[in-house]
Amino acid sequence: MTMKILIDNGHGIDTKGKRSPDGRLLEWEYTRRLAAAVEARLLTQGIDARRIVEEDADVPLRERCRRVNEVCRSHPWVLLVSLHCNAAGNGSGWANARGWGAYVSLNASDNSKRLAKKLIEAAELFGQKVRRYAPGQPWWPQDLAMCRDTVCPAVLTENLFQDNRQDVDYMLSEEGFTALADLHAKGITDYIRDL
Ligand SMILES: [Zn+2]
Repeated sequence: MTMKILIDNGHGIDTKGKRSPDGRLLEWEYTRRLAAAVEARLLTQGIDARRIVEEDADVPLRERCRRVNEVCRSHPWVLLVSLHCNAAGNGSGWANARGWGAYVSLNASDNSKRLAKKLIEAAELFGQKVRRYAPGQPWWPQDLAMCRDTVCPAVLTENLFQDNRQDVDYMLSEEGFTALADLHAKGITDYIRDL
């Protein structure tokens, strides 16, 4: 049986806020583009990957979790990665916090943590400054519906800060976008390989 990779992109076109202060980067648009790039990289490697939110509208968390769990019911090997961009402030001005992070739910399984670890290792390999929760535990535990209410291994990644000017410049560069897409493909394939 092969692994099915589900990719969730946070937020929709009608979600309020969630953008860089200068409006150059919109989280919903960026994470959709990133999700499509990660999906394409995995498909090229013969891995069964698909996005769970094809529409532009904001699909409620409950519906997104339902879509994931429906796949899990008919397939034993599923994993979920939810793509987001971080923010330190309320979006009205630039802030100082920078970096990339991986999050799991408070009830995370060992496999969720293992997937987070693979993604973090890949992030470092692709030159990201990883924000670590604690020495010896690089992933952040948080009460996240997408990870909490889905039954497969699940990790949410915060792909840099949409309210940090340097991060936004990097995210919008070809180099930055490619690195962020590559690191997810690498982390996921490394996770599958070690199963
Ligand atoms: Zn988000």
